[in-house]
Parts: sequence; structure tokens; C-alpha cells
Amino acid sequence: MKQLFLLILIFFSLNGFSQNPTKENAFLTISPMVKKDDPINKEIIDTLIRFLLTKNKTNEYNKYWLQSEYKTNGIPYYDIYNIEASKYGPDFYKPTLMEITPADNDNEKIVKIAYVGHKDDTKENIVRTIYNIVANKDSSGITFSMYLNYITKNWKETKIGSVTYKISPLACRTLNMTEALKQKREIAELSDFFGCKEIPVNYYSCINPIEVFQIKGFDYNPLMYVDKSGGLNEPGDNIISGNNSDYYMHEVVHSYIAHLYPSINSFLNEGFAMLIGGSGHFGYEWHRNKMKKYLEANPNFSFADHTTNTWEPLFIDKETQITYMLGALVCERTLRLYGKTKLFEIFKSKSDLFDTLKEVGLTKENLNEELRKEIKFPSTPPFHKRG
Ligand SMILES: [Zn+2]
Repeated sequence: MKQLFLLILIFFSLNGFSQNPTKENAFLTISPMVKKDDPINKEIIDTLIRFLLTKNKTNEYNKYWLQSEYKTNGIPYYDIYNIEASKYGPDFYKPTLMEITPADNDNEKIVKIAYVGHKDDTKENIVRTIYNIVANKDSSGITFSMYLNYITKNWKETKIGSVTYKISPLACRTLNMTEALKQKREIAELSDFFGCKEIPVNYYSCINPIEVFQIKGFDYNPLMYVDKSGGLNEPGDNIISGNNSDYYMHEVVHSYIAHLYPSINSFLNEGFAMLIGGSGHFGYEWHRNKMKKYLEANPNFSFADHTTNTWEPLFIDKETQITYMLGALVCERTLRLYGKTKLFEIFKSKSDLFDTLKEVGLTKENLNEELRKEIKFPSTPPFHKRG
């Protein structure tokens, strides 16, 4: 993926504080739109307050949330984990219950929550998000669950190899078999390269990044209208593509890396995903050619000046992320000079970037020269030709 993931990280980095909200300051405002005297609503509100007060404790399952989603989706409510925090303070954004609306069944309701911050000094309000969750009523009370699993439950599913595709009804199409079979072939090559079994992944095919956010439950998120393409690799090996495409090897690679090399340096993670699956709408060769021309046109550019932030917003023609290319060229050079055993060794390293790169003869001083040399070699994809 390209900018979308970067922006998500910026979004999370706004969470500069990690304290849990106290009971007093997590006070829930309830809109007059909500019928508070309705018995089910009353129960939902009571449980919602309990959930919001405990959701930032990650060392335990939250008893107000559907337990099975921890297995299928990691931390199922991570989109609103610690969402109260901002640079203006750890409890800056306050929750408002906006609406409780009917869902498909009588025992389900959609619960719409807004998080809004108010700056006392300037009297400004900042809307952080408007987010939907599902309230499920049964004999034991209310349990919340993900909007994602509710809204996609009737999406047409097709399993091709290890990937379960779910196509958005907004796409008005069936599975693109050409793309799905291409992805199947490349996944077989990837798992062979790693010497591992194929990892089952879910693949949600959305028409654009706005829909990616919408199916996750967002009515509003400051990032959802920024990019024209992109996608996410969500906890639990759930890939959500916003490219109206059933091929997204870049995101698939992130799932394999997460399982096999969880401590990998992010430059190598994004670099290897770029090397195998390209980024955005384009394959690796395309980005590599862009990078090569850029380096020829900019003799003073140095890779060594861009090694602190993998998601530095530094693009060639708004498409080619230079930091991803840095990582991809390091991977390519490592494979060419040392082979894949060494590549896996540096993927395992828990050291910082340059301590890791020492293992393959790269230093802050020679990085630029070595990568400029590398890009002059013909591209050597690890296991197949791609354009
Ligand atoms: Zn990526």
C-alpha cells in the first residue's frame, strides 16, 4: 500500500499519551436523538459506558465484546483503542453516543459513537472520528461486535487457494479470476521461497479507500478522503483493498512477514513487500525505473538522509515511496550478494537498522553509493518476472 498506511500511522502517532481514561473524564454524552427510556437502549447505554471505560486495557479480553472476534480479528476494537488521546492531552477526545439505530435483526442495533475534543483556549472543536459498532442482545445481556463482520456478512465469498475473497456489492462484479489466479500463483511462489505453508487470509475487495474505512465502521475519519488508492493489512490476516482489485501481493507479503519475522525492521518489511508486490497500482519494475531516473536526475540525493522514518512522505510523482525503494534495493542487493539465508537472518534481527545492515556490508557512509550501484544492475526478482 502507499500513502494510506503512512497516514494511519500518523493518525496513531497523534496518540502521544497512553494513560487510561478515568471514570470521570470518560463521561459519555448522549444525544437527544437517542430514546433513553427504551429498555434495550437503556441496557446498551449501561454496557457501552462499561465498555468505553475498560477498552484501553489490552492485557485482558474485554468482557463486553464478542470473544470469538479476538480469534478472527486480533484486537477487534483497536480502531478506537486509546482514541481519547491527542497532543492536547491524554483524555482530549470525549465520546458522544449519537444514535442507536435498527439493524438486520431485532436483537441487533447499530451504535454510532463520535469522539470530539474541545479546546478551551480557542473554543475550537475537533471531531476525531464517528465510528459504528454493533450491539447484540441475548439472554445474558449486551455484547458488542465489529461493524466489519456485520456489514460484510452477506458479501459473496470465493475461496481460491489460501485466500477467501469477499467482493463489495458496490463493485457490481464477481471475482476477477485472472487477478485471483495470478495472486494464487505468486502466493505459492512466496510460501515456497519462505519454506512455509500457505497462510489463510481474508481478502475484502472494496471499490476505493473511502469504502475501506466505511466497512471498518467509520462514518468519519480524517484519513478516509485523502487517498485514491491503498489498503490495509488488518490484525488476523484480514486484507482490505481499496483498489477495486483482487490482486494485492504487497499486503499479502505483510501477513507472511508478520507470522515469520515479527520483529523485522519496518524498512525491510516495506522494502520486501515492495520488491514482491510493488506498491499502489504498480509493480516493482515500474517503481524501480522511476527511482533509477530520479537518481540520475538528482545526483545530490542521498538514501542515507532518509533512514529514520519508513513512512516518510517522500514520493516520486506521488506514487513511488522512496523509503520503500530503499528497503527493496537493500533486499535485492542482499539476495544477489549473500542469498536468501542471509536475507532471512537480517529479517530476524531485533537491532536497529544500521546494526542490522552491518551484516550485509552496509553502513550509513556507504549506503547511498551501494544502492546507487545496485539499481544499475538488472532487476533480479526473487522468484518471478513481474512488470
Ligand atoms: Zn506495506
